[in-house]
Amino acid sequence: MKAIKEEIRIERAPVSKITEVDFNNLAFGSVYSDHMLVCDYKDGAWETPIITPYQPITLDPASKIFHYGQSIFEGMKAYKDSNGQIWLFRPLDNHKRFNISAKRLAIPEIPESHFIDGLTTLLRLEKDWVPTTAGSSLYIRPFMFASGKGFHASPADAYKFMVCFAPSGPYFSGKVKVLIEETYSRSANGGTGYAKAGGNYAGQFYPTQLAIAKGYNQVIWTDDNTHEFIEEAGAMNIFVRINDTLITAPVSDRILDGITRKSILTLAQDQGITTEIRKISVTEVVEAAQNGSLKEMFGAGTAAVISPITTFGFQGVDYDLPELQHSYATSLKKQITDIQYNRSEDKFGWRFKV
Ligand SMILES: *Cc1c(COP(=O)(O)O)cnc(C)c1O
Repeated sequence: MKAIKEEIRIERAPVSKITEVDFNNLAFGSVYSDHMLVCDYKDGAWETPIITPYQPITLDPASKIFHYGQSIFEGMKAYKDSNGQIWLFRPLDNHKRFNISAKRLAIPEIPESHFIDGLTTLLRLEKDWVPTTAGSSLYIRPFMFASGKGFHASPADAYKFMVCFAPSGPYFSGKVKVLIEETYSRSANGGTGYAKAGGNYAGQFYPTQLAIAKGYNQVIWTDDNTHEFIEEAGAMNIFVRINDTLITAPVSDRILDGITRKSILTLAQDQGITTEIRKISVTEVVEAAQNGSLKEMFGAGTAAVISPITTFGFQGVDYDLPELQHSYATSLKKQITDIQYNRSEDKFGWRFKV
């Protein structure tokens, strides 16, 4: 049997849009490259992926994605080093997690070859779209949804797996002011919080809008049962530094198993930083802020890598975090990005050559 990558048919765009793009002023995820990957699931099997010009797709109004929300995604990046070589960061982990999400949403799992060969074939075709400006990268969005139709509330019989690329600038989050959420929940025990399911994010928008109206940028999610423990920062994992100990919540049904989170834990442990993976109570964080032992709080995820929090609000009081000379956030972000852009030794085998 031939490898999947030799079978992927490429229909080229007649003209490239690349000259219209200002690579020095890229926002996040708002311009798309010339081509996309499409792969259909029909009659119980995944077909060979194809690459076509980036374009709108047609779906039947009865497609189950519209009615029952069977939809999952991943978020990855491709990085170009100073020699023009392109790299991915731990992409096999994204494929594994994609299938964990698929399973939870009753979507058929996709073979590693379709995911990895599909994505790398598209990347080689789109290599000029990987930005070289400092801190920029090509954001990769694999996604999969129910294209099969029917108003019956049951899994669809047809699905589409697609990959699109968005050249993106460095993610400057500015001063991030967060609100500890006490009413709404992002996820619940037995729910879909550990999956990258589209509906999880739809459910976050309204509580986040309420927090924005109160002057915050983002919500810190707490456990759905008691709202006493902090779990995630928006769509990122959360880290808290109390004195010199770096603490993050354990992954669970409710918390997404982030690749950035686990990379941070490995790097921190490797350099002798004390780490704890345990429940973090809101009371503990408030007391630490009051007695000065709360040094840092940050979100961790592929898009921003690390997004430092400057202020958190709880029950009508805002608590400011100190500005540190030597923050874990700055140091760990540099270490991760140095590995991603092939500027440092890859001690843990995380880089993946394209
Ligand atoms: C994607 C995501 C993360 C971060 O995962 P990474 O693999 O580090 O990008 C964390 N929390 C939520 C809810 C997410 O959707």
